[in-house]
Amino acid sequence: MAVHWADVYAEKIIREKGEKDPYVCASGITPSGTVHIGNFREIISVELVVRALKELRRNVRFIYSWDDYDVFRKVPKNMEDKQTLEQYLKKPITLVPDTTGRWANYAEANEKDLEALLHQVGVDPVYRYQAEKYRNSEYAEGIRTALKERDTIRDILNKHRTQPLAEDWYPVSVFCTSCNKNTTRQLGWDGNYRLSYACDSCGNEETVDLRNTAAVKLPWRVDWPMRWEYEGVDFEPAGKDHHSEGGSFDTAREISREVYGYQAPVTFQYDFVRIKGRGGKISSSSGEVVGLSDVLEIYQPEIIRYLFAGTRPNSEFAISFDLDVLKIYEDYDRCERIYFGKETVSEKRREKERRIYELSQVGEVPAAMPYQLPFRHLCNLLQIHDGDVNGVLERISEIEAQQRPRLEQRAQCAWNWITTFAPESFRFSLRSPDAAPLELEKEEKQAVDETIGVLENFQLSDDESADEKRLGEALYSVPESAGLDGKSYFKLMYRVLIEKDRGPRLAGFLLTTGLERVLRILSVYR
Ligand SMILES: [Zn+2]
Repeated sequence: MAVHWADVYAEKIIREKGEKDPYVCASGITPSGTVHIGNFREIISVELVVRALKELRRNVRFIYSWDDYDVFRKVPKNMEDKQTLEQYLKKPITLVPDTTGRWANYAEANEKDLEALLHQVGVDPVYRYQAEKYRNSEYAEGIRTALKERDTIRDILNKHRTQPLAEDWYPVSVFCTSCNKNTTRQLGWDGNYRLSYACDSCGNEETVDLRNTAAVKLPWRVDWPMRWEYEGVDFEPAGKDHHSEGGSFDTAREISREVYGYQAPVTFQYDFVRIKGRGGKISSSSGEVVGLSDVLEIYQPEIIRYLFAGTRPNSEFAISFDLDVLKIYEDYDRCERIYFGKETVSEKRREKERRIYELSQVGEVPAAMPYQLPFRHLCNLLQIHDGDVNGVLERISEIEAQQRPRLEQRAQCAWNWITTFAPESFRFSLRSPDAAPLELEKEEKQAVDETIGVLENFQLSDDESADEKRLGEALYSVPESAGLDGKSYFKLMYRVLIEKDRGPRLAGFLLTTGLERVLRILSVYR
């Protein structure tokens, strides 16, 4: 019995579609704006099922379709140069310029940005660009079939419409070849490949041939089932909006069967992804949209995969940017320890965590357990060393060369998180040894003095956790002998070290900072 949903769906595809070579798994979107992390859920869900199918020794073609022959309906909020862009409304998005000047057009800018990021998280589908397909008239037969069956299509669509489609409705939309806008009316069809239209914007009237024109496109609800048949799609999930009653999946299923003689792919509905704890922080590149690039700032690629692989697609979950980030990293590290048998759990849990861990890897599963550097500890180290990623990693002798890139990534994420999203209570920076001493009460001064004594006499060993325990014990008697209660003592130490009332656990913090450095900071109270 499969323990993971991706395996369950892989088995379902084989069962329902029969043996095939290859199985076609599809996903797609209109690149009409920055692709947000909710859309990424569809892509990664398909990728996980693709992996599961491959592990069952089946050939798979994973298609990601950019619906870039869609019309530019509105200028997204986060775009600059809105006036220039408004001239392109009603035209295909591939004709809209990229105002950043980096790419040939607006659609391509959104496409290439995401493709590069998808590769980083181990997602490498075959990309299909619909503008190219339509421009090469590859769908001529599919469009002709739709025109032939236009009554059937209209009846199917009308079942779910309050305003029925007119008798003379055509299941196509035409981009005028003169002004490129879709402001056209169909005038007639010869029953075969030739279609006539008139443009309301520029007055152009023309007859085009489906076999050599780029002008004619199917509307979404017909385009989708046509492409299922064209590509032989076996699996394609969709979001809630498409999976609602009478939504586009329902009508596509019917059109696919009745018009194209093709059984709709196996599917599931995936739920929304919420964003938690970003406060008012809006990324400059993507406006209000939280995209994959924003999540990669805080989470390593395998941890992003872990979030999606570890949640059933039909349940909503949140990607956190607040303190929960620490917990998510801890959960992932635990999952890794369970995978490598370093932490014991029930057999059932172990099996589940093992599978999630495998699916979370960008490449091969590591042969041995990687060196774990807890995210929380990394946050402390980086704050002690002012964000010096290399400096911090160089101090840790256990790190092997091949593990360095992953740890660098983690350290970068930790520093990004500290400097952008970590709550104020979590942030600190060490006082400079040159800073003027804080005013202390007599008892406080004595406590600092005794602490200095303890630290000067402390002998480090090779065992960090034993050192931490010993140092904790050595400091235990300091407050009492100075006439302070324990709570005031800790508060005092954090004040003199980081000018805060609280901080990481004291003994560990002193050791992590380095006793020499601590002594230099404290020396002003001598
Ligand atoms: Zn026109």
